[in-house]
Amino acid sequence: MSQSPHFSPAGADWQQRSLAAVWHPCTQMARAAQLPPLAIARGAGPWLYDYEGRRYFDANSSWWVNLFGHADAGINAAIKQQLDTLPHVMLAGCTHAPAVRLAERLSALTGGALGHVFYGSDGASAVEIALKQSFHSWRNRGRSDKREFVCLKNGYHGETIGALAVTDVKVFRDAYDPLLMRAHIAPSPDARLGNEAQALAAMRDLFVQRHQQLAALIIEPLVQGAAGMVMYGPEYLRGLRALCSEFEVHLIVDEIAMGCGRTGTFFAWEQAQAPWPDFITLSKGITGGTLPLSLVLTTEAVYQAFWSEDVARGFLHSHSYTGNALACAAANAVLDRFEAGQLQAIAAQAELLRAAFAPLAAHARVRHLRQQGMVLAFDVQDGGLRFAERFHLTARTHELLIRPIGNTVYLMPPYVIDAEAAAFLARAVTLTLDEVLSQSIASDCPDQPHVA
Ligand SMILES: *Cc1c(COP(=O)(O)O)cnc(C)c1O
Repeated sequence: MSQSPHFSPAGADWQQRSLAAVWHPCTQMARAAQLPPLAIARGAGPWLYDYEGRRYFDANSSWWVNLFGHADAGINAAIKQQLDTLPHVMLAGCTHAPAVRLAERLSALTGGALGHVFYGSDGASAVEIALKQSFHSWRNRGRSDKREFVCLKNGYHGETIGALAVTDVKVFRDAYDPLLMRAHIAPSPDARLGNEAQALAAMRDLFVQRHQQLAALIIEPLVQGAAGMVMYGPEYLRGLRALCSEFEVHLIVDEIAMGCGRTGTFFAWEQAQAPWPDFITLSKGITGGTLPLSLVLTTEAVYQAFWSEDVARGFLHSHSYTGNALACAAANAVLDRFEAGQLQAIAAQAELLRAAFAPLAAHARVRHLRQQGMVLAFDVQDGGLRFAERFHLTARTHELLIRPIGNTVYLMPPYVIDAEAAAFLARAVTLTLDEVLSQSIASDCPDQPHVA
C-alpha cells in the first residue's frame, strides 16, 4: 500500500487503534482501513493539530458545530465554572439556572413568539421531539387524522428512524426505507433550478389535496446543508408560512445547521420577515461545538394543547441528559457573544470571504459560486471519480480540512475569519482544486459517497 501524504508515526498508532476499537460515523469502514482517520491531538482557534504538529484549518467547523474556534476561552470558562457547581441534574422534577436562563434568552430572541423550550441532546432528537409534539398536539385537539409529514427533496433532518423518515438523502436512507414512516417529499426551491415559484405551487397542490392529514412541514431555512449547500431565497419561506397558516399545517423550521448566526441572522428564519414558525429546532452551534445539546422552541398554542389534568395528554418524552447543565452553560456563553455584537462581526467576515473567493467564479470548472453569510459553496464540473475524497486528501497537504459533498465544495468556517484567513482559504482551495483537476485518476477503486 502506498503511503498517504499525511502519514504520521505517532498519529498512526491512534489511527490503527481507532480502526480496531471505534466504528466511525458516516464511513464505510473497509474504505477507512485504506484511508485511516486523521488523528487530531488538539485544537486552537480554527486550527486542528495532528500528533506531528501539522495543522489543518477546520473549514467545515467540525461538522458545522464550531462557532468561535476550538478551545474558546470564554466557553471553556463557562463550562469549567458550571463543572465545579453542578455538572448535571435530571430535568424532570428538578430544574437549574443554566437551562432556565437559556430558555428565557432564546424565547426573547423570538420576541416571545416561541418558547416552552424542550431540551434534547443531538440534533436528530430535537427533530423527533418536534415531530412528536406536532402530531400529539393535533391528536390532543381531536385531530388524530393529522399524522402525515412533508419534507423537501434532498432535505436532511437527522438519521434516527423518525428523523430519517423526513430526510431525503438516498445514501443515508435507502437501506432503512422499509422501516420508515411514509412522508411526502415536495420539490426543492434550489436556486440553481430557478424554480422557486413552481416549488411553492407544488407545495400548495399537496396542501390542497392532503391538508386534512398533514401534521407538519419540516424544512431547512435558506440552505439545505447535507444536500450540498443548496440555497434559496426568503420569499419561498414567506410563501410556506402563508400556506401553513392557510391550511392549518404546522411549520417546523430546522435551524440545527443554519441557526446561531450561520446565515447572518441569529435564526435564519428572521430573513423571511414573516410570522414565526410553529417550531424551531436548534443544536450543533448552540454550544459553540463543545457539548451535545439540542432543543425545540414552540408556540403557546402548541403548549396549551398538552395542558390537562390527564397525564397521557402531556408530552412525556425524555432523554437522560436532557437540558444538561454543562451544555446549557456553554450555550449561555454562546448567547453572551451574540449579545456582544457577534452578528456585526459575522457580516464583516462574510464580506471578507465573498471578496477572497470572487475570482473563483471565473474558474473554467467552477459553477454556481454561492453564499449565505458564513456558508460559501460552489460546484465543480467534471470533477472525476471520487472527487470529494481526492479533494479532501489533497487539501490536507495545503493545511486545509475540508470535505466536499459530491462535486460541491463548501466552506462553513468558524466565525474567526480575518483578511489573512480569508486569503489563506481562497488560496488553499484554489490550489487544491487545480491539483485535483490535473490528477490522472486510477479507476481501481469504486466511487463511494463522501459526504458533509
Ligand atoms: C446535522 C443536522 C441534523 C441532525 O443533527 P445530529 O446532531 O447530527 O443528530 C438535523 N437537521 C439538520 C438541518 C442538520 O444539519
